[in-house]
Amino acid sequence: MTNNCVFCAIAAGEIPSFKIYEDENVLAYLDINPFSNGHTLVIPKAHSSCLLDSSDDSLAYVIAAVKKVANHIKTVLPCDGFNILQNNGAAAGQSVNHLHFHIVPRFGGANDNIEFCSQKGDMEELKKLAEKLRMI
Ligand code: 5GP
Ligand code: ZN
Repeated sequence: MTNNCVFCAIAAGEIPSFKIYEDENVLAYLDINPFSNGHTLVIPKAHSSCLLDSSDDSLAYVIAAVKKVANHIKTVLPCDGFNILQNNGAAAGQSVNHLHFHIVPRFGGANDNIEFCSQKGDMEELKKLAEKLRMI
């Protein structure tokens, strides 16, 4: 298997996939275990394990493709909205160590549970945290 990586093998055509989009640098295909109807993965063809391991050029190609594919899915499926999900590290739920963005279409309604477990923010704590994390 190319690079001993499932997504490199998909990009190389060694493992079949339901392709949605392809260009020189990027590939998009349906997730085999979808969160919702139309759940799509967008990957750079060049291997990188996660966001921090990726070149800025590769990221630019991928995020442009994410926008293009999401716009297409929203129009053609159609869906009412979508989540972009990108996991880094096992602690964050990353199970395939090749950079990928999930496009998860959303349809509204009672059956589409999009809870991300929010908690009411403590303004003092948020202020301290912003001071600690500020980059500008
Ligand atoms: P992660 O949890 O790493 O962010 O997401 C990996 C995703 O890849 C999962 O949603 C999983 O269903 C999907 N996946 C794993 N193996 C394959 C495969 O061989 N083909 C396709 N199309 N998706 C895969
Ligand atoms: Zn790979």
